[in-house]
This record gives sequence, structure tokens and C-alpha cells, in this order.
Amino acid sequence: IVSLKDVRKSYGTVQVLNGISLDIMKGEVVCIIGPSGSGKSTLIRCINALADIQGGSIQVEGQEVHDAKLDKLALRKKIGMVFQQYNLFPHKTALQNVMMAPVKVLKENRVEVEKRARELIRKVRLEGKENSYPGELSGGQQQRVAIARSLAMRPDIMLFDEVTAALDPETVKEVLVTIKDLAAEGMTCILVTHEMGFAREVADHIYFTDKGVIVEHGPPETFFTNASDPRTRQFLSQVL
Ligand code: ATP
Ligand code: MG
Repeated sequence: IVSLKDVRKSYGTVQVLNGISLDIMKGEVVCIIGPSGSGKSTLIRCINALADIQGGSIQVEGQEVHDAKLDKLALRKKIGMVFQQYNLFPHKTALQNVMMAPVKVLKENRVEVEKRARELIRKVRLEGKENSYPGELSGGQQQRVAIARSLAMRPDIMLFDEVTAALDPETVKEVLVTIKDLAAEGMTCILVTHEMGFAREVADHIYFTDKGVIVEHGPPETFFTNASDPRTRQFLSQVL
């Protein structure tokens, strides 16, 4: 469903992605881990065309993402993205935040959107918080509203970039449970994460990036126990 071939990206003279190739099947959960500055966020941003590339190709559902003729809006409807900063609208309730894009962007019927939004809020386990404003919610709750908001656009693929990195340890788990629920339902998920336990439990495949290249990848069982690349081993010895 997502295919990268020899993707290269630079900012000025700084080469950030140095020939990344990977394939993600429908329904797969893929975790990308690696040291700070290794290009993880950049990689994610290239997949939904928030950043351009200088070489290689990225295909989503068979379509070339970095083709000038591609309808970027249509692409971004297919791909949901959640960041570390949840960026909810502070003067709108949880429900209104979730409803906004389908009503404004997709011009869908309000009544139907509201019904779906309420279901999504239930799905992220926030029933009862529909009318709360972001300021009245914990970080983990806000992040789950952000996930529901993304899901309201009915994406085929979800990208998560360190969505738990800014959260208190107690609330990290509830967000991870939400992502786990999604994965269990067959949503294709690409996650940048530092949560190794989670990656080990939920990922079908793990990629380790360093300096813009994938230096190691494999299913979690082999990745965590049999990493052969020295940089991966060193990283894992520091975080595990
Ligand atoms: P972290 O774990 O800290 O989030 P990361 O792996 O996500 O790191 P990126 O954010 O992808 O790393 O950044 C990779 C490199 O690209 C870094 O050296 C960064 O300084 C550089 N970079 C990222 N965005 C830009 C930009 N908009 N302009 C210039 N350089 C950038
Ligand atoms: Mg990052």
C-alpha cells in the first residue's frame, strides 16, 4: 500500500534521506526507530507529500506521491497523520474538533458526521468527554481526540510521529492502547516511536534508521534479539 524506492532528500547541502527503500502492505503496522536527527520525521512527511524529495519514488496505493499532477488534497485524505503536538482547536469541544474536517473539507452532512464523530470518540475511549474543551483534557486525552479527528477523514493509512513523546508516563499507555485497537482492526499504521515495548508487541516490522539510511530491519522477534548492525545494537543497548 506504501512503497518507497531509493528515496533521497536533502535540505540545502544536508543529505537527510540517503536512499530509503521499504514496502508496507495493507494492514501492516510498521515502526520506525532510530536516533534523533536520523530522518524519521522527514521520512514520514515525505510519505504524505508534506516534504518533497530529490530522488527515488514514493507510491501510495499505486500512485506516485511526488508527481506534480497528483492531487495532494486527495492524497492527504487517504493518509491520516498525528504528531507529537496535537494542535486541537482550543475553543472547540472534543466533538467539534473531530467533526470539523469532514464538515468543512469533505462537505459532508453534519448529522452523519456527528454520528460518526461520537462513535470515534467512543472508539478512542473518551465517551463522556464529547463536550470538553482541550484545556479540560489531559495530554493523553487530547492526543486521543487528535487521533479521532484524523480517523474522521476515513484514512486508509495512519502516520504517527512520536505521538507519546510529550506525554506523562501515566497517559502514554492509554494512547498506545488506542493505537493498538486500530492496528487490531487492520488499519495500516506507520509509527515513529521510542516505545520499544510497544514496538515489540504491536509491530509487524521494524526499521532502524541512522543518518538517513535504514541500517537494520526485520520482524520484532529478530530485530530485538538478533540485530547485526553495530549502530542498532548500540542504540538498543541504551534504550532497552
Ligand atoms: P527526532 O528523533 O529528533 O525527531 P528525526 O529522526 O525525526 O529526529 P528529522 O526531523 O527527520 O529527524 O531531521 C533529520 C535532519 O534533517 C536533521 O539533521 C534536521 O536538522 C534536518 N531538518 C529537518 N527539517 C528540516 C528543515 N525544514 N530544514 C532544514 N533541515 C531540516
Ligand atoms: Mg522527529
